[in-house]
Amino acid sequence: MNIIGASIDPVRIDGSLDRLNQDLQAFDTIGIQAVELPVHGLDAILNGTLHTSRTRQVMSLLSDFDFCYSIHSPNPVNLMDRKDPNLHKAVLEASLDFARQIHAHVVVLHSGRFIPEEEFAITPARSLTASEQHRMLEAEAQLLKDLAGQYPDLMIALENARPYLSQSPYTYAEHLGPLREQVLRVNRDNVKINLDFGHLFMASKFYAFDPLTAVRQIKDLVVHTHVHDNFGGTVHHWEKQQTHQLPFGKGDSHMPVGFGQIPIQAILDILLPDYDGLLIMELRSRYFSDTKTSLENLSALVAASNGRT
Ligand SMILES: [Zn+2]
Repeated sequence: MNIIGASIDPVRIDGSLDRLNQDLQAFDTIGIQAVELPVHGLDAILNGTLHTSRTRQVMSLLSDFDFCYSIHSPNPVNLMDRKDPNLHKAVLEASLDFARQIHAHVVVLHSGRFIPEEEFAITPARSLTASEQHRMLEAEAQLLKDLAGQYPDLMIALENARPYLSQSPYTYAEHLGPLREQVLRVNRDNVKINLDFGHLFMASKFYAFDPLTAVRQIKDLVVHTHVHDNFGGTVHHWEKQQTHQLPFGKGDSHMPVGFGQIPIQAILDILLPDYDGLLIMELRSRYFSDTKTSLENLSALVAASNGRT
């Protein structure tokens, strides 16, 4: 039986343990079984170091609940960063240390970006040469090998990325094929893939590939999932306001399951027979009150998929 979970929104919590407590209570009430915690939203890492007393506070709060946990490392962590690579590594190590403390097994990491999102506004769209990209892929793989050895008890799950109109391709992970190649390059049992359904759907529309064929290519490497919905329309990196994007079916909407057009049932049909990881609904804060509907919709899809096998 697949465990369905929900993610705590880092910006919604914004360092408030009271809000974390409220949201966990709400998840508990509707029958959520697993929770993905954003280590950043909890203020558990400061300046590249795990904040130990804060971590103890979080642990004490979590002791009132009976969820399974996964961890989302801070979104800007980029193992391809060229300005301050040691800081990025330190933030990821602190995330892994936090995961150990709260007995989470999976730590989600956004795959390396050749051009980081934070620099889109100042960096004209450009593509790196094949040899530059190869060097960065090799460097990221080496870092991941090192971390996999340091944290053999944890699973690092590399997430596939969404495209952006004016900056793609900015990471190899917009396509599942190169993401698969990178995981194979790392070649460690505890470095695998987090399949984000929403990012996959947007990439499939933008690059015109079949999302189901892509999932078949990587399904043996998927250990974690982010399940949410959208209409597939890609936007520029400066288009952040959901209110303006939704009427046009654009944006990384992170809507409740069933609200958009992603073929979630078909993806689950491919994935679930051999999948025993968590199904984390990663919804935007604006949909918090729809979490129960999303849970009901996803539970029905999972039951239908399991009924077919
Ligand atoms: Zn995600």
